[in-house]
This record gives sequence, structure tokens and C-alpha cells, in this order.
Amino acid sequence: MNGNRINTPTMRYQLRFFGFLGLLVGVLLLVISISQNLFWGAFVALPLIVVSLGLLRAGYLRFFAQFVAGETADIIRDNLRKPGENRDVASYGDPACRNCSHCGALSPADARFCSHCGRSLQT
Ligand SMILES: [Zn+2]
Repeated sequence: MNGNRINTPTMRYQLRFFGFLGLLVGVLLLVISISQNLFWGAFVALPLIVVSLGLLRAGYLRFFAQFVAGETADIIRDNLRKPGENRDVASYGDPACRNCSHCGALSPADARFCSHCGRSLQT
């Protein structure tokens, strides 16, 4: 199954290598052709730069995907969570929580008994 994967580590390094190489050659060719008034050079250099950026994007796709996933995981997890569901800590002022009328400890709004003193929360 591993043979069907495109982004093997070897492939990734090749994409990065040829991406940087193509970008370097493309930019050099563009600068030279503009400074020498050789307009055909730009027709070669610009597509080469675009292709190289595509190779670099493919070569670093895994890196960017991991970075984006790491940055957004907390936000996505918070947004997927319904109020009062899977809460680690109950917080004051949260509509999904309420205070025990006996000891004052916070419990989820749908709890039947206080998690602190164990008395019934139904009034
Ligand atoms: Zn209580």
C-alpha cells in the first residue's frame, strides 16, 4: 500500500530540491532577461517560477497541513462541543451550569445530584 502514496519522504525531498532549484534558475533568468532586454527569457522564466512554486507547495504540503491543524485544533474542538458537554471544569456564569442549593458547588445543569455533596439538585 505504501507504493501508492505520492508524498513519500524521498519524493518530498525531490519536490523541495527541484522546487528551490527551479525557483532560483527562474528568478535569475527573469532578472537577466529583463536587464538585457531579452523578452523571450521572461516567457521561459515566469512559467518556470510558477511550476517551481507548485513543486514547493507539494513538497511542503505536509508541513503546512500539520501547522494549520495544530493551530486550529483547539478552536474546532471548542466549536464542536455542545454547551455542558464534555466539560473538564465547570465555570461560573455558564448557563450550562448551576449551583447546588445546599453547598454551592457547581454542577452541570442536567445533573440530578450534586457532584460535591451528593444531595439532589431537583427543587
Ligand atoms: Zn452540593
